[in-house]
Amino acid sequence: QIILGIETSCDETAASIVRNGREIISNVVSSQIESHKRFGGVVPEIASRHHVEQVTIVIEEALKQANMQPSDLDAVAVTEGPGLVGALLIGINAAKAFAFVHQLPLVGVHHIAGHIYANQLVEPMQFPLLALVVSGGHTEIVLMKEHGSFELIGETRDDAAGEAYDKVARVLKLPYPGGPHIDRLAHESEEAIDFPRIWLEEGSYDFSFSGLKSSVINYMHNAEQRGEEIKPQAVAAGFQNSVVEVLTAKTLRAAKQYNVKQVIAAGGVSANKGLRKSLEDTFAKEGIPFTVPPLFLCTDNAAMIAAAGSVMFEKGHTSTMAMNGRPGMTLFDWN
Ligand code: ATP
Ligand code: MG
Ligand code: FE
Repeated sequence: QIILGIETSCDETAASIVRNGREIISNVVSSQIESHKRFGGVVPEIASRHHVEQVTIVIEEALKQANMQPSDLDAVAVTEGPGLVGALLIGINAAKAFAFVHQLPLVGVHHIAGHIYANQLVEPMQFPLLALVVSGGHTEIVLMKEHGSFELIGETRDDAAGEAYDKVARVLKLPYPGGPHIDRLAHESEEAIDFPRIWLEEGSYDFSFSGLKSSVINYMHNAEQRGEEIKPQAVAAGFQNSVVEVLTAKTLRAAKQYNVKQVIAAGGVSANKGLRKSLEDTFAKEGIPFTVPPLFLCTDNAAMIAAAGSVMFEKGHTSTMAMNGRPGMTLFDWN
């Protein structure tokens, strides 16, 4: 079964062809980061314009790299939401047109289900499974008892982890997106500023990162006032230690409570070297299988959309031509 995936929810225009939900045949990503950098974040109108220019090109390139014709495909999967509405609509309309012309079924995929299913491109899932989703817009612990079943165990009450990374990076005057820059600086430092860990109520699997972000801003402000030297590496290391410690501890506690067979990490922040190492070490010690996709499958891509779409398609979850972009879409079950 061969699926074409299309992703345009934010600032990556991407198309990919995946076989049986597990094997990447081609994977094309056109990033717009350069265009958004000088604004310090994603500008929705600019994102839409890039998607319009790029979407047909990336689809054709994905077919070309796979050495395939549209007639080789079984379905078209596309990100239905959440994301920027104008950006989503470009991918959805491209997918609809392609599906209509080539008489293919259409599958609308939740972007976060995509991030989670990126792991299937590495290892088959084992249930019950716990997913730590850490991205630019989401920070969640999701329990999956079977394919297409998503139970939200905990989530952020304010900023997403990636958002906190990008905001702290901005205070440190690092370019957008700041996550990878903080990660790099954190590893260049021997010392780390001691920032608070935000645990919330005992037993809670929720997260909060805005207080930590404020602590970093206050530290910088006070140091400036006192005329003290600020070491960006030590600030980055301190911030990263706090984020990684809380994410790891809550994921471990949930993994034990729900007695899961596998733990996975997903989303852009799972590309973080400190987080990957902490999770890998922790779960190795506990003897719980842990997987995280390679870096290129952590950040936005279309292979993950095809991977999730493939399982949905197998279970008969197709969409109609009435599909619309759903910017605030919540994770739904399709088991
Ligand atoms: P969502 O998936 O929630 O809709 P998104 O698609 O914008 O949001 P992703 O593309 O999954 O988010 O991830 C982008 C985020 O990942 C950015 O905030 C970026 O800073 C962060 N990120 C990428 N690499 C790293 C890293 N090495 N360390 C920390 N953060 C990182
Ligand atoms: Mg992105
Ligand atoms: Fe994403």
